[in-house]
Amino acid sequence: MFKQSGYVILLALAAFSCKTSRLASTVDNTPAPVAKDTVVVSAPAPVYVTSKGDTLEKIGEEIALEVFEVVPDTLTVIGVGDIMLGTAYPSEEYLPPANGSMLLSDVADILKNADITFGNYEGVLIDEEGTPKECNNPKLCYLFKTPEHYAVHLKEAGFDVMSLANNHAGDFGPEGRKSSIEVLTKLGIAVAGTQSTPYTIFEAKKTKIGFAAFAPNTGTISIHDYARARKIIQHLDSTCQIVIVSFHAGGEGPEFQHVTRKRESFVGEDRGNVYEFARLVIDAGADIVFGHGPHVTRAIDLYEGKFIAYSMGNFCTYRRFNLKGPNGIAPIVKLWVNGEGDFLQGQIFSTHQLGSGGPLVDENQKVLRKIKELTLQDFPDTALEILDDGLITFKINN
Ligand SMILES: [Zn+2]
Repeated sequence: MFKQSGYVILLALAAFSCKTSRLASTVDNTPAPVAKDTVVVSAPAPVYVTSKGDTLEKIGEEIALEVFEVVPDTLTVIGVGDIMLGTAYPSEEYLPPANGSMLLSDVADILKNADITFGNYEGVLIDEEGTPKECNNPKLCYLFKTPEHYAVHLKEAGFDVMSLANNHAGDFGPEGRKSSIEVLTKLGIAVAGTQSTPYTIFEAKKTKIGFAAFAPNTGTISIHDYARARKIIQHLDSTCQIVIVSFHAGGEGPEFQHVTRKRESFVGEDRGNVYEFARLVIDAGADIVFGHGPHVTRAIDLYEGKFIAYSMGNFCTYRRFNLKGPNGIAPIVKLWVNGEGDFLQGQIFSTHQLGSGGPLVDENQKVLRKIKELTLQDFPDTALEILDDGLITFKINN
């Protein structure tokens, strides 16, 4: 909470008349803005009201983002959804040109500009044969096998931590999982979500970060085993300053864009109750929850001051993925959190994938509008407000 960590959020009266710059273009990787001069606003639901009683609506988007004070332990954390840089299985014709080196080039500057950058690797990084997963229905048989040296593109684009808890991490058996872990770890990218590596602890900006990843699939850390999830998160919470949790769950496709708050099933599988799970891990000590799995985006929400993105969609894939309509748009979610992991503010950068794939900045901001719409529908009482330029802030309390 803001109070517990000694913070107050203030709004700068002086800046109302200033030409206000957007957070994204002014802040870079600096700590979250804390403006001076006026009303003290306290968590858990800070209210942007000036001493004159003006609300955010009245002053529009002219929040005082220009007047900053440094908050030393503010961290910036970026989350994106599914990543699969191309597959050599069933054939090398599914690999991208130039070894995939251009796939992340349009968004790398955004991804690099954070203390921690997270993604979900929806495939296996292995050069050896491995043990391809058996497929009963060849039509639905998609196995993703990425050459090991492609992983360097993740590192170069700024990724620090990846989830290996998803339905493709086991496509090439235990050898595949082992290889993915080794390849990423060697590059200095932290991984978690497998039976051998349920969670990981790493450091960013001199802060100890705990990360755990969950999914409903065999070989991952089960999203259904609440007792184990609670135990892992409580352990991380007791040893780390910030705990990030990722899950790969929920039904897939345009029919599954809503957070139903119920258990979801898809192709006969129990894909978990993501609403319940997100709250459970936050109650156990998680600070940020990054969801993915539905291949489309879902709403965002705040619970106990902690940020939840329910699904971040197909972020960077190459062929083999349906990228039509809602499947082809995805956010880069950037968060500013305090030393206790409480949400300060965020920014949604819109991307889309065209043709064979690879994220491009989307000037039309389709995914931003989609997330806003879904959040209004699924969480009308959320404490979050999503502005038209992608800034995520606290809703005004009228
Ligand atoms: Zn998946």
